[in-house]
Amino acid sequence: MTAATDYFASVRAEIERRDPNQTEFLEAIDNFFKTLEPVFEKHPEYIKTNILGRLTEPERAFQFRVPWVDDEGNVQVNRGFRVQFSGAIGPYKGGLRFHPSVNLSIVKFLGFEQIFKNSLTGLPIGGGKGGSDFDPKGKSDGEVMRFCQSFMTELQRHIGLDIDVPAGDIGVGGREIGFLYGQYRRLRGAERGILTGKGLSYGGSLARTEATGFGLLYYTEALLKAQGDSIKGKTVKVSGAGNVAIYAIQKATELGAKVVTASDSNGFVYDPNGIDYKVVQQIKEVERGRISDYAERVATATYQEGSVWDFDVDYDVALPCATQNEIDGAKAETLVKNGAKYVACGANMPCTPDAVQVFKKAGVLLGAAKAANAGGVAVSALEMSQNSERLSWTFEEVDNRLKDIMENIFAESQAAAEEYGLGKDYLAGANIAGFNKVADAMMAQGI
Ligand code: GLU
Repeated sequence: MTAATDYFASVRAEIERRDPNQTEFLEAIDNFFKTLEPVFEKHPEYIKTNILGRLTEPERAFQFRVPWVDDEGNVQVNRGFRVQFSGAIGPYKGGLRFHPSVNLSIVKFLGFEQIFKNSLTGLPIGGGKGGSDFDPKGKSDGEVMRFCQSFMTELQRHIGLDIDVPAGDIGVGGREIGFLYGQYRRLRGAERGILTGKGLSYGGSLARTEATGFGLLYYTEALLKAQGDSIKGKTVKVSGAGNVAIYAIQKATELGAKVVTASDSNGFVYDPNGIDYKVVQQIKEVERGRISDYAERVATATYQEGSVWDFDVDYDVALPCATQNEIDGAKAETLVKNGAKYVACGANMPCTPDAVQVFKKAGVLLGAAKAANAGGVAVSALEMSQNSERLSWTFEEVDNRLKDIMENIFAESQAAAEEYGLGKDYLAGANIAGFNKVADAMMAQGI
C-alpha cells in the first residue's frame, strides 16, 4: 500500500462509519478514489490537509417535508433534499431529481459527481444536487404544480443567486421548472438567475433544452476524432427517452450516425432504419406516454420489454442516457460482443465498476459522465450569465460556446491522462482534471 492508498482507505472508512447505508455515494467515492493515486503521490500536501476528508463531506445538506394536496383532496407527504456539496469554485449548482428512488445517498452521489463535472466546464460553479421521492409519472398537471409549489416554499430559504442555483434532472423538465420558478417569484421576487432551464419567455437560454444531448455528441465526436475516427456512418445504441436521449438522437443523426434504439424503464424500441427523435419527443414530452407507443407509430420499429443493453445487435457506439448503474458487468460483456468500441455517458454513473473493468480489458474507450454530459450544466451557467447581463444570446452563440466547452473538456481529460501516464483512460483523466482545479481552490482558501 502506498501513502495515497492508505489515506484513501482511511477516508472511506470514516465515510462508511458515519453512514454505512449510502450505496450509491460510496460507489461514486470508490470510483473516484481509484483514479487519483498518481495525483496524491505528486501532492503529499493533499494528504496532510485532508482534502478528501473535507471534499467528501457536504458543506451543508437539507432534508425537508413536502406536503401537498392530490386531485381527490387527500394530503400527500414526500421528502425533499438539497445537498450543497462544494462551493470552492463558485455558487452551488446542480439539478433537482423527482423520482421514487431518490434518497440522501443518491443525492449525495449526484452532488459529489457534480463538483468535478462543473469544474471541468471551466465555468465558476460549485457542486450541489437535490430532489424528492415524488413521482411525477401519472400525476395531473395540477398535482405536479401543487407539489412544486410546496417544494419551493421550503427550498427558497436555502438558495440564492450567489449561493445555490438549482435546475432540472430526471423528472424535472420545463413544466416543473416553470412551477418552481413561479412559486419562488411569488415568495421572493423576480430573480431570474435563481433557477436554470427556464422557459424562453421568462429568462431561459436558447439551446439549454438541447444542451446535454448535443454536448454529449460534441464530446463523443472529439473522442472519436482523437482516434482518427468519426461518428459519421456509425451505428449507435441510445438508452433513455428523456431530455438527454432525445437531443442526443437528434445531434447524432445530424452528424451522420444512425441511432437504432431508445428506451424507458419498461422496455426499448429498435428501428434498423434509425430512430426519429421528433416522434420520441412527441410521445415523451407532449403526450407523456411510453416508448412502446413508438412502435405503434413507426412501421419499421419493434418494441421489446427488458433492457436495451441485453439486446443482441451489432453496433459501434453506446450512449447510455437513462440512469445510474444501467450497464453492469454482464451487459458490458454483451456490448463488447456486439462490437461496440466507444461508450460515452449521457446519464450520471450509468456503468457499474464491473462494467468499467470489462471495457478496460476489451479496449473499449469510455467517456466519463462528468465529462461527456457536462453540456447541460455548462449551458445552465451560460443562462446565469445571460440573466445577469439581462440579455439573450442567439441559439448559434450558445451552441458554439457549448461545442467549444465540450471539446475543451475532452482535451483537458486527454491531457491529464497523458500527464499521469494513463494512456487512453479518459475517465481517470476527467477525474484528475476536474479534481485539480477544486483542490487548487481549496488549498488557496485555507481550512
Ligand atoms: N442535472 C444536470 C446534470 O446532471 C444539469 C444540472 C444543471 O443544469 O444545473 O448535470
